[in-house]
Amino acid sequence: MHVTNTLAEANRQMTICNACRYCESLCAVFPAMEQRRVFTDDNLDYLANLCHSCGACYDACQYIPPHEFGVNVPKVLAELRLESYARYAWPRGLAPLFRRNGLLVVLAAATAVALFVGGFVTLGDANVLFVAQTGPGAFYRLMPHEAMVLLFGSVFAFATLALTMSVRTFWHAIGGSPLTLSEVLDAGRAAATLQYLNGGGGGCRNEEERPDDRRVFHHCTFYGFLLCFASTSLATVLHNGLGWQAPYSWYNPVVLLGIVGGLGLLIGPVGLLRAKGKRDPSLTDTRARGMELGFLVMLLLTSATGLLLLVLRATPMMGVLLALHLGVVFALFLSFPYGKFVHGFYRYAALVRFAQEKRTPANVSDNT
Ligand code: SF4
Ligand code: SF4
Repeated sequence: MHVTNTLAEANRQMTICNACRYCESLCAVFPAMEQRRVFTDDNLDYLANLCHSCGACYDACQYIPPHEFGVNVPKVLAELRLESYARYAWPRGLAPLFRRNGLLVVLAAATAVALFVGGFVTLGDANVLFVAQTGPGAFYRLMPHEAMVLLFGSVFAFATLALTMSVRTFWHAIGGSPLTLSEVLDAGRAAATLQYLNGGGGGCRNEEERPDDRRVFHHCTFYGFLLCFASTSLATVLHNGLGWQAPYSWYNPVVLLGIVGGLGLLIGPVGLLRAKGKRDPSLTDTRARGMELGFLVMLLLTSATGLLLLVLRATPMMGVLLALHLGVVFALFLSFPYGKFVHGFYRYAALVRFAQEKRTPANVSDNT
């Protein structure tokens, strides 16, 4: 007996696929499925998070609607992925945030920006907001460095804790065992290259039935995010270790990493939004649309406000742009454990489990 209708439907479709096995070379889902004869709810959550939603198995399938079997693997696994994020969310009471994530992200961003503008005006010198600030420590004339560290450190620590607890529960549910370095590297290679987003070599399917550029734009987004994160981490080291205060010169590695990462975070989300618009809706979970759009728009706003701040930081626009940038980043951090951001962690955990199963298939029983 499955806990939800989606789990029951995924079980029905996986049972058909397990008898058919035509798609076994397309991605990791089918080889993982073939190691099982029955599918528990946890098994199905594992398979759902292995799926990269490329759509290749839908193209290949002879049992898609209107065939009476009505097989649509990308769609049912997309629906199950969304359910699984809520199922493993920590704390459990915040799981419903996944349902209205798009709206909540917009509200959080608007509120955070308003609070930063209000805070700059009421807690500091109101004139500072609209007067050009230059030289080391210019940003901290609007908001003390200690206050920034406390605010962003707290929200980052909470997001890290919530994500760790959620993924830990998922890992145990899918039967994860102690890791080896080679399993971690094997999964890391698959994740870093998006190995399973190429539909077995044919690329992602879109409405025009051509391979699209989703993989390239996903790479821009992912590596752009990593470079921005590296830029912020380096700035923290320079500030605390060497006493060098932001803003930094154009040729400082903090700025160079931020520029390259910011451009990736502009190009990637724009491309992904465009690809999303062209995707065949019959392959996707429309309930996840708000969450996916909200995440991409927030990434886009983060990079756009960050790059604008860089260009206009010596002008009277700096104060307002800093409030906008900090507000957006704060809301983005806040949404991390309850939005699309979690997909990377669940998918990586599923890929590590897949790497384990490739090495020790004998450990896979019908009920793990
Ligand atoms: S998706 Fe269709 S063709 Fe592919 S294994 Fe399942 S039933 Fe067979
Ligand atoms: S990754 Fe692609 S081929 Fe594999 S199950 Fe998902 S949609 Fe189908």
